[in-house]
Formats: sequence, structure tokens, C-alpha cells
Amino acid sequence: MKTNNQTVIVTGASSGIGQGIAIAFGKQGANVVVNYHSDEEGATSTLEKIIEGGGKGFIHKADVGKEDEVISMFEKATSEYGTLDVLINNAGIQKDSDFSSMTLDQWNKVINTNLTGQFLCAREAIQLFEAKKQASPDDKAIGNIIFISSVHDIIPWAGHVNYASSKGGILMLMKSLALEVAPKKIRINGISPGAIATDINDEVWKDEEKMKELMKLIPYKRIGLPEDIAKVAVWLASPESDYITGTTIYVDGGMTLYPGFVDNG
Ligand code: NAP
Repeated sequence: MKTNNQTVIVTGASSGIGQGIAIAFGKQGANVVVNYHSDEEGATSTLEKIIEGGGKGFIHKADVGKEDEVISMFEKATSEYGTLDVLINNAGIQKDSDFSSMTLDQWNKVINTNLTGQFLCAREAIQLFEAKKQASPDDKAIGNIIFISSVHDIIPWAGHVNYASSKGGILMLMKSLALEVAPKKIRINGISPGAIATDINDEVWKDEEKMKELMKLIPYKRIGLPEDIAKVAVWLASPESDYITGTTIYVDGGMTLYPGFVDNG
């Protein structure tokens, strides 16, 4: 499972799932670009842990929704490490609201970061992969992209229509792109987390009553941790999973299993 000298960009790696994934790649000896948007301290702490784990890297501030900033980030990565092997498209936000009072700004911000941001980063990564020496059908993949989506790419979510729409969009972005670039030996997959304890949902896991309610939705009866996602991401970007493309792995403690039917329905 050693990824050794893989060069990896992880967007939104200053906290939560992205931080966990970046540290896990660091432990494999990878070169990790730690992207962040506002939390420089968090990104620095991620980088320290990458180095402690035996990896290398640098932090890079960029808004994934801004084309020029995304292009500069990929240029910096290649000028530092010469190439790119893995993109972890992770950065994401929520701006929750009832539908009737949702502002255009709430809609646009979520779509721009969660969906357009993943498109912009994926496009830069694909251009770099396509520039590599063409692989023959018997070779392993020349590049991997993992889209961090959500169980809400298939579970509707009232009060979060902008977020669920962005994640549903990622599902078809991931699959269509996987189809387009599979003949070039580029693998594209998704990981859809269930409830993972991070800053995005700390108002839930820090509150005992809300946790009780949440557990009704998780047959496996525990909240997930960033490491649960990170282990899958490292494997999914490794040659161990070489024949997998265009697939989503739901890492959700059974949240997508219709938990309401757990007691015989
Ligand atoms: P988090 O701890 O709030 O982390 C979000 C990350 O995204 C931060 O590093 C943040 O950077 C970054 N970010 C936000 N806007 C950005 C932008 N415009 N450009 C670049 N980076 C930006 O949340 P998380 O739970 O780890 O979420 C990570 C991903 O997992 C998201 O796509 C989320 O939808 C998905 N997810 C999470 C859960 C869950 O239960 N936690 C479940 C399903 C899916 P700064 O802090 O530096 O601004």
C-alpha cells in the first residue's frame, strides 16, 4: 500500500476529512499539497503531521471556486514536484436554509465551492495526467482523482437543497469524467461519507440530544472519524484498487441502508 513518491493535492486540507486524508498520504511518504482557504494555522498543523509521518509537502492558499487561483496552485505543485499523481477533491461548505428563503448568494456559494471547485481542480489534474507518457492497456493508472461527495448525493436533504444539489452534481461529474478518461488509464472515483465528526457538523456531535437523534440514522451506531475516510482514500488512489473506476464508495456506517427499516420496517 506504500504510495511512496506520489504527489497528491488535497483541497480543503486545513481541517476535518481533508486534513485526515492529507496526513494519511503523508504517512505513505507522499508529497502533499495542503490546500486551504482561510485557516492557515490548520493547514500548518496538517503539514507538521505530514512531515512527522515521513511525508513532504507545502501549504497553499487558494479558493477552489476561482479559476486563476486553482491554475496557480497546480502550477506550484508541478514546479515543486514535477508531476501530479492524485487529486483529492475535498473542499466543501454548507450554507443551510429553508428553500423559500434561500438567497441566491447561499445557492451560488455552495455550488461554486462544492461543484464548480471540483470541476476546476479536476480539469487541471486531467490536463497534467494527459501530458504524461501514454500508458498501454496493461499498465496501472497514470493518475487518480477522488471526489469527496456525500451520502446526500443520493439521500435527499430538506433544508439543504443547495448542498444536496452540489453533491448530486458531483456524482454525474465523477461518472461522466470516469467514462471519458478511462481509455487514457486515468481513474476517477468518489467517496461519499456519512456523518463524520468535523467542524462542518460540530453543532450536532457536540450536543448529546442531537447525537441521540443522529444515531437513529446510523445502523452501525457510531459517528465516523476523518481516519475512516482517509484509509479508503489512500487505498482507492493506490495500485491495489487499479480496476476500480467510476464508482462511489459509501463510507457511512450504513446510513444509506434505509435505517428506518432496521426493526423489520
Ligand atoms: P470542514 O472541517 O469544515 O472542512 C472544510 C474544508 O474545506 C476546510 O479545509 C476549508 O478550508 C475548505 N474550504 C472551504 N471553502 C473552500 C474554498 N472556497 N476553497 C478551498 N477550500 C475551501 O468539513 P469536512 O467535514 O471535513 O468536509 C470536507 C468534505 O467532506 C466536504 O466536501 C463535505 O461536504 C464532505 N462531507 C462531510 C461530511 C461530514 O459529516 N463531515 C459528510 C459528507 C461529506 P478553510 O478552513 O481553510 O477555509
